[in-house]
Amino acid sequence: MILEIVKYPAKSLREKSSPVNNIDDIKELASNMYETMLKKDGVGLAAPQVGQNIRLIVINKEYSEDWALVNPEISFIDDEQDVLQEGCLSVPGVYGRVKRYKRVFLKALTIDNKVIEKSVEGFFARILQHEIDHLNGILFIDKVLPIDKKKVNEGLKELKEIKVDV
Ligand SMILES: [Zn+2]
Repeated sequence: MILEIVKYPAKSLREKSSPVNNIDDIKELASNMYETMLKKDGVGLAAPQVGQNIRLIVINKEYSEDWALVNPEISFIDDEQDVLQEGCLSVPGVYGRVKRYKRVFLKALTIDNKVIEKSVEGFFARILQHEIDHLNGILFIDKVLPIDKKKVNEGLKELKEIKVDV
């Protein structure tokens, strides 16, 4: 089932999400989120983006063998960072460059309740940082480089003027 995407400036995108207690309860939500992400050409999607403030994210299988991550946590391995342009399904039409860590250590549960503990890098590491930010009420627009701030703010102004129907 394709779910409605919550769009900026919805307040729920700014809330901290709660841990998932029972994975069986969120299996259907996770597969609906995955389907929605594919339909909207996203590479990742976090539960708050479909109106559920719980700690669940999905990641395109192209970038991660585990497509759903429950209660994901990351820690940083070293200081190395890189810059790449990002966008977000909840902030349509707005893009800006964001600096992120190149490598992170991931702890999470899979949708089959298996523990994942591994270091990840590259595009997967970037998606993870973006999606886990969503679980903490943080959006990529909070982190864009100063050089892109003006462009982003103009895009946000337009979004605020659109009547959000979710
Ligand atoms: Zn996003």
